Amino acid sequence: MNKFLLPYSRQSISTDDINSVIKTLKSEILSRGSQIEKFEKNLKKYVGSKYALTTTSATSSLHLSCLAIGLKERDLVWTVPNTFVATANCILYCNSKIDFVDIDYNTGNIDVEKLKDKLANSIQKPKAIITVDFAGQPTDQEQIYKLSKKYRFYVIEDASHALGAKRKNELVGSCKWSDLTIFSFHPVKTITTGEGGAITTNNKKIYDKIKILRNHGITKDLKKMKIKNNQKWYYEQIDLGYNYWMSDLNACLGISQLKKVEKFVQKRNKIAKFYFSELKDLPIILPEIKKVNRSSFHLFVIKILKKNKNKYKEIFNELLKKGLGVNLHYLAVHLQPYYKRLGFKKGSFPKSELHAETAISIPIYYDLSLADLKKIVRIIKSVIKKYVF
Ligand SMILES: *Cc1c(COP(=O)(O)O)cnc(C)c1O
Repeated sequence: MNKFLLPYSRQSISTDDINSVIKTLKSEILSRGSQIEKFEKNLKKYVGSKYALTTTSATSSLHLSCLAIGLKERDLVWTVPNTFVATANCILYCNSKIDFVDIDYNTGNIDVEKLKDKLANSIQKPKAIITVDFAGQPTDQEQIYKLSKKYRFYVIEDASHALGAKRKNELVGSCKWSDLTIFSFHPVKTITTGEGGAITTNNKKIYDKIKILRNHGITKDLKKMKIKNNQKWYYEQIDLGYNYWMSDLNACLGISQLKKVEKFVQKRNKIAKFYFSELKDLPIILPEIKKVNRSSFHLFVIKILKKNKNKYKEIFNELLKKGLGVNLHYLAVHLQPYYKRLGFKKGSFPKSELHAETAISIPIYYDLSLADLKKIVRIIKSVIKKYVF
């Protein structure tokens, strides 16, 4: 593995995190125990939702969400091409049909006007739409939620980037404008559990269903059983589920990390502010953050100008060579070979494609020091000036 001095993102682990994992490791119960319950309780309290369930990853959370809304083969789901493949794959796990809605190039989020047009003009309406809070900035979620009432679809918000983000003072995950919200606790995200994910919702039925599907489809709830047997040894499998349990080791790390979420998000916002002021005079496009939003700044994505996109490769590689662990978020999903085989073509979602030809994620994470930031800015300035005039 390349050891970059400054990766685009990374975890921040301190002694309290380490001690909490050691404590759990020395305890009786390593899985399906009190740490899971406590992490879920703290998470729902933080975001302000009625329910929260943890899982092995955001990917499994997305899968469970699609199952919980009853996605079947004939159903259609829309998402954006500017996302990690997992957001799209979960639709295919259910053998449902997938289509995409292009992004607003300025924010990287779903273009609500395009969504409105597509909804009005499509014969088959989607059963669900999966939005993505790109880089940590919430989408225009209240508009999408309003559309969901008109056209009767579910809103699943992939907030893998957006724990700690706010829209109109509402924390992402409260599910004020979504049926389900998904979080990732992968090490590069706002907080980490190693691997892990979570779902929040205010819908009791969805919550109950996910709880069973996370546990092989097994229930011990008498009300749900065919045979009302309350013996200790008895359980029933009533659906086809999975083992998507987070372990208590991961959950206790999550509890400890969640205590610091505000601190993490504030630091990321401070770093973003520094970049905005230091990079504003370069011939590049800086992120557009809408006034109603507080981004969690999972990513800080700069974009070279369209007319310079033939310099992308050189600029990207030179930044890497100089020690910045830059990355591209994201290659457009519809152009992945697997999705092309389903019939998607270049040119169908031009803004997402242009985004993929111009976007560069530069380092942003809690442990960056002012000296690091100055170095990063110096490198970016010199590289951009070298290739773009
Ligand atoms: C990270 C990420 C995922 C997947 O998260 P895992 O926890 O690694 O499964 C899904 N969607 C988006 C937008 C992501 O950034």
